[in-house]
Order: sequence, then structure tokens, then C-alpha cells
Amino acid sequence: MTAFFYDISWYGMMAVGVLFFAALYLGFGALNHALSQWLLPALGYGGRLDPRPIPAGQIRRELRHSALVVLLFGAGMVFPWGLLQLGWARLAPQASAGQIALEMLALIIWNEIHFYLNHRLLHTRWLQRFHLPHHRSVVTTPWATYSLHPLEAMMLGNVILLPMVVHDFSVYSLMMVPVFSIIFNNIGHSNYDFLPDYQHDRWWLNGARRHHLHHACYHGNYGFMFPFMDRWLGTDLPPDAAAEKIRRALAKAEQGDAA
Ligand SMILES: [Zn+2]
Ligand SMILES: [Zn+2]
Repeated sequence: MTAFFYDISWYGMMAVGVLFFAALYLGFGALNHALSQWLLPALGYGGRLDPRPIPAGQIRRELRHSALVVLLFGAGMVFPWGLLQLGWARLAPQASAGQIALEMLALIIWNEIHFYLNHRLLHTRWLQRFHLPHHRSVVTTPWATYSLHPLEAMMLGNVILLPMVVHDFSVYSLMMVPVFSIIFNNIGHSNYDFLPDYQHDRWWLNGARRHHLHHACYHGNYGFMFPFMDRWLGTDLPPDAAAEKIRRALAKAEQGDAA
């Protein structure tokens, strides 16, 4: 596996990258859709977080934006590949299972910090126009995971470059970054309460509820999957932050229906 990344050509790397990210986006999106739309509701487990309807055309727009981002992320594999070719980064071919586990843990924590910082930047006056395409999905769907402006995709997509320069990772640890990212990203955009016994967003695995609140309120809860950055920097939202807004929107829709 390690030799593969040294031997492949730049265009081969881009092609493999596009297929890899397309498979991640479509595969995990379909799994999330099946779980949150059919399987879990059929089992009577959990429920929708934001009950408001999804506007017409939203999913088509999410798929369109995501297709471009799959191409960008895939083609962007040429950057880590380039670091290896130039000798600025190296892979550790003989890493033990313990080392891979530790590396993955470090990359999960780094991914959280990197996402939080970039996300905060994307909410500034100067950069927010590049983040608004993602926030057009107020009620999230599994297809919103890669629904990003290209600049946002480039800001988030460079997450492994710095770690690769400072440490020789196993190829398996690096390959797991897009995999755990898409899993966490799907949890965040599922609009589904997978932890119905925790009717609050304090539980550290309750990323679905936290990111639903981020989309419903726009400000606050800037973290990716875990709450530690928001808690540390005081940007976490109270669990009922969107309740009033959703109640008013539903009441207004009902009035509209009655009129
Ligand atoms: Zn945001
Ligand atoms: Zn989002």
C-alpha cells in the first residue's frame, strides 16, 4: 500500500482520489439516508431533530455542489502525493497497530481543531460569503456533507498536510482521515437524533444535535463532531437554542396552510 502512493503518477493519483471521495460521499450518504429515513423510524428509535420540511430543490443543489467538491478533494490528493514525491513527507511502512491507533486519535483531535479554526474564520465578515452556500441548508440532509463553496472545500481539505510534514504517518492512518470525517460529517448532517436518551447536546457523541443547532441558529456550535473546542472557547449553544425559532416557523406554516 505504501509503495502504491510513491509509484502512482499524478494523474493516476487524482483519478483514484476522485473515485475514493465519490464512493465515500455516495456510500455514507446512502447509508445515512437509509438509517435516518427508513430503518430507525421503522424501528421506532430516535427521531428527526428539525421537523421543518426540506425546501424544494435543496437536495439537488446539495448534490450539485458536492459533485464539484468530490472533484476538488479527489484532485487535491495530488498535494499529499506531491509532499511524498518531494521528500517533504514520508510514510511509515512498518507501523504497528498501536502506532496506527495513536496516530488516528491524534488526527481526530487535530481535525477537530483545524475544522473549528477554519469554521470560525468562515463565519467572519470577510469570509462568510464563501460559507453561506453550506448554510443554505437550514434543515440538513445527508447530502449536505460536501455541499461547500470551493474555497471552503480547499480550507478544510488541507487538514492532513501539516501533520504529514511534522510526523511520518502510516498510510492507513492518513487514509482513515477522510473516512472518519465523512462518518462524523454524516452524523452532523443527519438531522436525526441517534441518542434519544440524551435530550441535550452536552453528551460528547451528540454531534448530530450540535450541528443541527449550528445550521438552525447559524452562530455557535462551530465544532465538527466533538464539543471540546466550543466549550473551551465559550461558543457552545444551549440545547434549546433553536426551539423557539422552530416553533415559530411551524406555527407560521400552519397559519399559511389554514389561510
Ligand atoms: Zn457554519
Ligand atoms: Zn454543516
